[in-house]
Amino acid sequence: MTLEDKLANTIKLISLKNAIDFNNNIKPEVVISKTFSYAKDSKKNIKDIIPEIRKIISELSLLPLNEKETLYNQIFNESDHYLKNLDADITQPVLIYDGNNNKNQIPEKKSPDSQHFFELPQLIGAEYGNVVTRFPPEPNGYPHIGHAKAAIIDEEYARMYNGKLILRFDDTNPVKEKLEYYEAIAKGLEWLNIKPSIVKNTSDDMEILYEYGRKLIQKNCAFVCECNPDLIKVNRSNGIFCNCRLNNVDHNLSKFEKMIAGEYRQNECIVRYRGDMNSLNTAMRDPTLFRIILGSHPKLGNKYALWPTYDFVAPIEDGLDGVTHAFRTKEYELRNELYFAILSDLDLREPNLIEFSRLEFEGIPVSKRKITPLIEKGIIQRWDDPRLPTLMGLKRRGIQPDAIRKFVLSLSITLSETKPSIEILESFNRKILDPISLRLFFVRDPIELHIDKLDVDSIEIKNHPTLEMGKRTVKVEKILYISNDDALKLKVGDSVRLMELCNIEIMDIDVSDGMGTGKKVIAAKNIGNEVSHNVQKIQWVSKKESVDYKILKPMPLYKGDIYNENNLIIDKGLAESFISKLQIGAMIQFVRYGFCRIDDFSSAIFTHR
Ligand code: ATP
Ligand code: MG
Repeated sequence: MTLEDKLANTIKLISLKNAIDFNNNIKPEVVISKTFSYAKDSKKNIKDIIPEIRKIISELSLLPLNEKETLYNQIFNESDHYLKNLDADITQPVLIYDGNNNKNQIPEKKSPDSQHFFELPQLIGAEYGNVVTRFPPEPNGYPHIGHAKAAIIDEEYARMYNGKLILRFDDTNPVKEKLEYYEAIAKGLEWLNIKPSIVKNTSDDMEILYEYGRKLIQKNCAFVCECNPDLIKVNRSNGIFCNCRLNNVDHNLSKFEKMIAGEYRQNECIVRYRGDMNSLNTAMRDPTLFRIILGSHPKLGNKYALWPTYDFVAPIEDGLDGVTHAFRTKEYELRNELYFAILSDLDLREPNLIEFSRLEFEGIPVSKRKITPLIEKGIIQRWDDPRLPTLMGLKRRGIQPDAIRKFVLSLSITLSETKPSIEILESFNRKILDPISLRLFFVRDPIELHIDKLDVDSIEIKNHPTLEMGKRTVKVEKILYISNDDALKLKVGDSVRLMELCNIEIMDIDVSDGMGTGKKVIAAKNIGNEVSHNVQKIQWVSKKESVDYKILKPMPLYKGDIYNENNLIIDKGLAESFISKLQIGAMIQFVRYGFCRIDDFSSAIFTHR
């Protein structure tokens, strides 16, 4: 098989798997981004592959789902492990629906390298044992899934080359940083199973940073500017340089020392890089390197008044720490020129700078700048609110750290700005939850169901349909509850199966229960226990053994740019009493409802279907 055939087969497998996982829909952006990470061996330029991907998708889209499944398994079986970099999703055969409510699993074919389902592309200039990466968050907010993307990539590369990962708190804006945020970031990384080799604060290096400031001034690469901030702004946009630029080195040095000594007020003067006021790259128009910020720093109190900017700190810290590969998001692109100019002026070693796209989701802001105001304005009360993409929010929603890692790696490090669908994250999560979640019954908006007779007064229900996760005993009596969603579809004469209990025939649906409440009561006849595939199966709870239960369903925070007022749905109903025995934080699946994480003794949070 030629490389090109293999590539075509890879694209087909990815597309078919995507359709099988997502209701027969193939999402081109998912296929493209996955293909990119797997197509390293192909001699083709990645850009030339896109039309081919689109052509394959349009052909495959025409097939009905069952044919897609068959074709998937056929290609999978023929592929014979040449697709060794494909992920777990694709290196597993799919389950085929045999029309009999049973899923037949085709014998499993294991990837030879099943530990590393996703491989990031190799790094340019990387030597095994000598790679240093760093994750540099500013402790000015709670970490979110965008940070997870950056930190996971940093860590995976350090591990791939048996190198080091530095966690560096970029904390040189005293009024923005808080101890609470340092802690939340450290905890978030721990949850993601990221263990940095070194943890440091940029603010630990203030004296060193001042020293490099002096060096730059001495080399006449920086100067002190005393213009008023509004004028600086106007001059910057018009490309006009100011007279402060003409002052000599000694003048600048003595001013700099006075700035350090705290002899100036905020905005009275700044240190600027001697760039090029006519540069088309506005980041080079004499950018700010140091500014006076009065305020107590969470780690250093009032020790310093003069603080370096991100532009100054990033190259120096990376250079000093021996970072070999520095990753940052694409929006810093314009600042690359300045980054390398400062390193070169100071004769510091230059890391390889690598960019990747910012992670964004439709309707969910993945940025501290957008999340923090929601909390500050009291629109959202807690950082662990399950509607938020904060790591705490995702954890509380039941998203598993390993699913986040797989998701991030599946995106690889492309620059494409397409927003991945949150469903991809959910599908990784579902695979993790499926074998560890107990199955229980919950009925939303309960409706009473009276059965004429029952042959038993208690039954045993398996906690998981296929895995050994124990059984529970449920006491039953003639009054049960079913959900109104199911009740609405029932008509007199219908047969349905109450899962695990018996089959019933609907005898009567009484909307006036005689007490004037307008509550619906359904009467049914027990028609035996034979399991038939043609009968609708519904879940129920027993009157004797049920508890009031609430499920919080997070929805997108925004619809386009508009805040979604209905971003939290609350489903109320009854759950099996057995749920009270489970611990807070346990993951369960409410049958025919979805995966949930138990949040407290009477409520759970909906994770996903
Ligand atoms: P925010 O808008 O959330 O404040 P930031 O870039 O200012 O983002 P930092 O704390 O400075 O946040 O980010 C630390 C690292 O995480 C940086 O390397 C940044 O590029 C990366 N990062 C932040 N947000 C995202 C995102 N949404 N997707 C990918 N990487 C991100
Ligand atoms: Mg920042």
